[in-house]
This record gives sequence, structure tokens and C-alpha cells, in this order.
Amino acid sequence: MLFLTFGISGLAIALNYLKIFQSLEWSAYDTWFRLRSTEAKEKRIVVVTINESDIGKLGQWPMSDIALSQLIDKIHQQQPRAIGLDIYRDLPVAPGTKELETVLRSTPNLVGVEKIIGEKIQPSPILQEKNQTALSDLVRDGDGTIRRGLLSVELDSGQIKLGLGTRLALMYLAPAGIAPEPIGETGTLALGKGRIIPFNSNDGGYVRADAGGFQILINYRGTETSFDRICINDVLNDRIPDNLFSDRLVLIGSIAPSLNDFFPTPYSDSRESLVKDLPGVLIHANIASQIISSALDGRNSIKTVNEPLEWIWIFAWTYSVSMLNIVLLDRQSDGQKNIFTSAPFATFMTCFAIVGSGYLLFLGGLWLPIITPVFSVAVSGILISWYCKTNQEEQQKKLAFTDGLTEIPNRRFFDEFLKEQWQKNRQKERSLSIILCDVDFFKKYNDTYGHQAGDLCLKEVAKVLAQSVRDSDLAARYGGEEFVAVLPDTPPDAAIAIAQRICDRLKSLQMPHVSSQASEYVSISCGVTCTTVSVVHSPEELIECADRALYQAKEQGRDRAVLWQEQ
Ligand code: GH3
Ligand code: MG
Ligand code: MG
Repeated sequence: MLFLTFGISGLAIALNYLKIFQSLEWSAYDTWFRLRSTEAKEKRIVVVTINESDIGKLGQWPMSDIALSQLIDKIHQQQPRAIGLDIYRDLPVAPGTKELETVLRSTPNLVGVEKIIGEKIQPSPILQEKNQTALSDLVRDGDGTIRRGLLSVELDSGQIKLGLGTRLALMYLAPAGIAPEPIGETGTLALGKGRIIPFNSNDGGYVRADAGGFQILINYRGTETSFDRICINDVLNDRIPDNLFSDRLVLIGSIAPSLNDFFPTPYSDSRESLVKDLPGVLIHANIASQIISSALDGRNSIKTVNEPLEWIWIFAWTYSVSMLNIVLLDRQSDGQKNIFTSAPFATFMTCFAIVGSGYLLFLGGLWLPIITPVFSVAVSGILISWYCKTNQEEQQKKLAFTDGLTEIPNRRFFDEFLKEQWQKNRQKERSLSIILCDVDFFKKYNDTYGHQAGDLCLKEVAKVLAQSVRDSDLAARYGGEEFVAVLPDTPPDAAIAIAQRICDRLKSLQMPHVSSQASEYVSISCGVTCTTVSVVHSPEELIECADRALYQAKEQGRDRAVLWQEQ
């Protein structure tokens, strides 16, 4: 049982390592995000958006350096803690290049972006020179979805480059004296009230993912509606509240479909269009928000457990469903039938429980695989109930062919066995012998010692008979106090010797039988016959001959074995 559970769990885990369940685990994980209720808006972040109509009003894209310098200047005037510019600015866009340079040089809390993975995009040379750049790179999963955030990368030079969200979040937290501190060997960082746990390649539903750099699982706060947004033209035209940016984190980025900076996230529904994908700037906003709210509010990050614990999780579910199935199938064989206590229903409910607890754990900030255990549970549910059913059927079959009192095969089994042997014998022309035994004066035994003692006596006779024949022979209860032995490939002289041996062995037990006129102990008479000593045409005739021999044994004084001889 334990072995089977280990086997199936192991199989499920092995299949998982072949990435068979990975995309299903991802789908489940994405579903958890969509199912859970939206969190409160992130009040510490404002996103300045550039949408399609803004581009129209700006009159050109990329926007001119003068417009950008005005934008940064207006935001800077309200004294935000940090400004993230999620727009590439490696080349000048006249007019206003001089003005922009002045603004860039005089805004120390401004961070620009560069891209270093895949096709590289250079940062603004001025921001580069002032070390005010961060990475805009996003980590895509095999299905294109962004579930992980790249917090930092160590360059070949040994320099650590922070992601945009990370850099902004740390700038936001710096005035409060909060900075990351390494704890333990695993790379985990303590940050304010929270912890930042690095992503490992087999975390959650992932299998052998590239965990390069410092990555985390993004605990999305939500989509557009989770952040305060204002469009660029409102800022440029001073249509903004007085302290909109004060003491907050400001991100500037495009949300215009034509600029194509959109990515699938767990919120994207594959059945709907690109519109549901999230603009890159909002993914960076989510990452920044995750770091800030973890440090300041102790908000959950998404944790996973190490692989041995995942295996235990899978094994425990599989073992439970196996035990449950066994108990239910056992009850069913006792006649308690009910859809709610049926094994398939129990297996289904267990799968349901896995999915349910997977979701509840996720709400508590823990991501455990659910597809692998569901597979394991379903397979063992099916296998166990199949195994138990076959076992039960076999047992019932066995019961139908066994004598209840003596526990040796019954008359029905004997009939089939004899018929089978008869067929085989006819083909091979061998000798088939049978011995018919009858307890002597058994009626008197019952009268003397009682019916219960009679039953015990019959059990002893059956035992002697069963022990006296070979494995290939059959010893059965023929009915009442009569027994029969079928001996394939046995000539008459051997058969009569076996019959005699049965008589002797029973007598040697010395079971007292005071009212017997044949012996002082319980004795039997045996009629023996063989296909080679008389011309018989059917199994019934063979039995009849044995019966006649038995009659002769009784006539001759009982307590003996007689071989049927054709007169
Ligand atoms: P004989 O030596 O001629 O065989 O005499 P007998 O008394 O053994 O033969 P008879 O056929 O007259 O009686 C058989 C008895 O076996 C009658 C019946 O009550 C008893 N008997 C049959 N089956 C059982 C059983 O399962 N348990 C007990 N205790 N007695 C049984
Ligand atoms: Mg009898
Ligand atoms: Mg008898």
C-alpha cells in the first residue's frame, strides 16, 4: 500500500520534472491571482502615463527633449521621493536637448532605464555618467507571461545593477533608514518589516527555470486601477492637484498600444485580446509596490517550500486518498452503498480539496503545486479502487467455491474440476482416479457427541484429506459427511494406496467414537475408481463407480478402502 503510494507519487514527481505539468501549474497560479479580491490602491506610487491621445497632443514620438525636460521639472517641483523614467532616452530628440541636459543634471532623484538582456538598449549618457540608471528588463516565462521580477543583476565586472522597481523602492525607503540586509546563506534579504526571498529554479510550479540574477515571484497588487494615474498632458498643462507628487514615488511610462510595451501577466486572459496585457511601467510599479509594502506594511511576498516538502505534500495527499479508498471500498463490500461514500466520489473530492487548499494557501502567501498532487491522487484513486474491486471479486469467487464449514473446496468446485480433468484426460489418455469417502456411523456420532462435535469431526476429516493429496490433486467436500478426492495422472494402485493412507491417518488421530461398530475411533470408508479399470463415458459414470466401490467398502465392514472392479 505504502509502496504503491510511493510509486505513484514518485511517478507524478518524475513527470513534473519533465515539465509536463508546468504550464498547468502556471495556469492554476494565474487563476489564484484573478480569483483573489483586489487589494487597496497603492497610495505611495503615482504613474504618469503616455497614452495614444497624449502622443497626438505632443505631436511627435519620441517626445521632444523640451517636453520631457518640462515634464521632469514639473514633477520635481512637487518634491517626490524618486522619479522613474521608463522611457529609453539614449539619443537626443531636438528641440530642447540643452534644457533636458540641465534638468537631468539637476534632478538627483531621477532614474532612467537601460536594457541589458537580449537586445541591449543604452541609457541616457548623462544619467549613465551620474549613475542614475536601472534595468527595465522583465523576465518572461516559457509561455511569455511575466510572473517574476528581476530585482538585480551582477554584471561581469562585478557591478550590481538594480531593476527599475527595486531602485525606486530603495530610494523611497532610504529616508526611513530602511535598506536591505542579507540574512542566512540562501540569499534572503531582510528589508524593514518584510523579507525578500530570491526565486529558485524549481520554486512552486516551476521546473528548471533560469533563476539568474536576483529574482522574486511578483505578488501583483493589481492592474491599472491599483495605482493613481495621471496623463502626461495634464502634468504639462498644470492640470494637477498641488501635492500630487509630493513625497511619493513617480513612474513615467507609456500605455499607448502603438508603442507596444505590453506584457501578459497572470491577469491576462488568453481568451481576450492584448488589451488585458499590462504595460511595462505598471509591472515595474507592481515590483516597487511589492518591495515598499513588504518593508513598511509587512505585506506577504509569495513563498514556496523546498522540494522535499513539496514531495511530502504530494505524498501525503496520495496516501490519504489511498487509505480513504480502501476504507470506503471495504464498507461498500459490507453493503453500504451510497454515492457520497463511493470511492470515485472520494477521489474527486480529494482533488477538489487539493485545489481548494492550494488556493487558501496562496491567499496566505504560499504557492504549492496542485496539478502534480491532483494527478497523483487521481491515478492512485483509480488504481486502488480497481485493485480492491478485483480483489473483492476474487474473494467472492473463492467464497462461492469454498465449503463454509470445512473451508476446503465445495461440491460446485469439485464438479468443475472433475469436468476439466476429464477433458484433459480424454486428450492425453492418462489415468484419472477419484476417491469417495464417507464417515462411518456418523449419524450415531452426532447422536452421541452432539451436532457441534460432529461439525468439529468433519473439519478434522477434511484436514486429513487435504493433507493427504498432492497440490495438483483436489480434496473437496462432496456433501454431508462425504468427501471426495480427484487424482489426475494417478493409476489405480497408487489411488488405493492414497485412500488407505487417508483411512490410516484419520484413525491415528484417535478421535473416540464409542457408538461405532467399525472401530473405537472415528473411521471412514473409501470407494476408489480409475478411468483405466472400468469403461466409463462421463464424469458422472466415474463418480457412480466410486460410489459403488464405497458401498462395497461399507458392506465389507467399513473402515477400509475398496477399488471398483468390473464384475
Ligand atoms: P454409514 O456408516 O452407513 O455412512 O452411516 P452414517 O450414519 O454415517 O450415514 P447416514 O447417511 O445415515 O448419516 C449421515 C449423517 O451425517 C446424517 C447427518 O445428520 C450427518 N451430517 C450430514 N452433514 C452434517 C454436518 O454438516 N454436520 C454434522 N454434525 N452432521 C452432519
Ligand atoms: Mg453418508
Ligand atoms: Mg456415513
